[in-house]
Amino acid sequence: MKHAVFVKPGLIEWRETPAPQLQGPREALVRPLVVGRCDLDVAYARGLLPMPSGAPIGHEIIGEVIEVGEDAGVKPGDRVFVPAQISCGACRNCRRGLTGRCESVPFAASYGMGREGDYGGGLADLVRVPFARAMLTPLPGGGDPVALIGAADMGADAWRAVGPYLAHHPEARVLVLGGMPPVIGLYSAALAVALGASVIHYVDADETRRAVAESYGATAHPATPSGSYDLIVIALPTRAALAGAFALAAPGATIVSVTPAIDGPLEVATAELYHRGVTWTIGRPDCRHGHDGIMNAWATCGFCADRVPTRVVDWQDAPDAWTGDDLYVVATRTAENPNDL
Ligand SMILES: [Zn+2]
Ligand SMILES: [Zn+2]
Repeated sequence: MKHAVFVKPGLIEWRETPAPQLQGPREALVRPLVVGRCDLDVAYARGLLPMPSGAPIGHEIIGEVIEVGEDAGVKPGDRVFVPAQISCGACRNCRRGLTGRCESVPFAASYGMGREGDYGGGLADLVRVPFARAMLTPLPGGGDPVALIGAADMGADAWRAVGPYLAHHPEARVLVLGGMPPVIGLYSAALAVALGASVIHYVDADETRRAVAESYGATAHPATPSGSYDLIVIALPTRAALAGAFALAAPGATIVSVTPAIDGPLEVATAELYHRGVTWTIGRPDCRHGHDGIMNAWATCGFCADRVPTRVVDWQDAPDAWTGDDLYVVATRTAENPNDL
């Protein structure tokens, strides 16, 4: 079969590889139909994050079930979301919702990220899903996979940034420091609007992204406004962003970093944070767990992923599009390529 691999920064290409086979009763083989380019893929494609040459890429996947083991819990023909990370659903971490830290597979085992476990990537003719019942969720009836692909992965990341906090504090004042990862920051602002936050300020130096945030109902700023906020999402990998978030945190605030700072360590005034009572959360998302949250938001409060300007490309053009400058890219098998459907 064909799959797309990272060759070097700026170059992704199709290569032949043996098709995966079922290895047990709980498994399924899924044919990716629509794959979105996660913000993380942009970092890999540009060489900002390490990725071994020859590693398969792509992990934001909606596909069709092709073949199943006897205990897979899905059937051929089902259209499903495939989470980026491999999770068994049964270990201690998975049961706690820490599906990005499943104990049944190598650490951080995922599709398309150069991780251990040899699970391949989403830009492929087939992917093997080792825990189909735990991992796969159905595409809602009548749901357009191109419109919903953002909910397959980046939406789950955005949900963990704002969903749990706003469930308890729905009228919170929210600040999103956006820019990188760009779409996850925008989804976080959009989701905060959908979930009823009273104030949603989105900060980004980029005018186009500010316009997207405004289209979702957030108030956009080119630089951080003064004020204090109950929930601050850091989608900007700098220590200045982190320092700014600590300075703007209201008493009892929560700060969520959806990226590490990549420009060095930060000295933190812990006594001041201690007296205000600030919670700081940083970590990789738990994709399967967060997917339930984002789909609930989609079903109940109208969050839609597809207002982010998206370049939709034919499947075979994915490698070039993955290295381009578009804000978001979605590759889809089309009716013009019936052999691909
Ligand atoms: Zn991702
Ligand atoms: Zn597990």
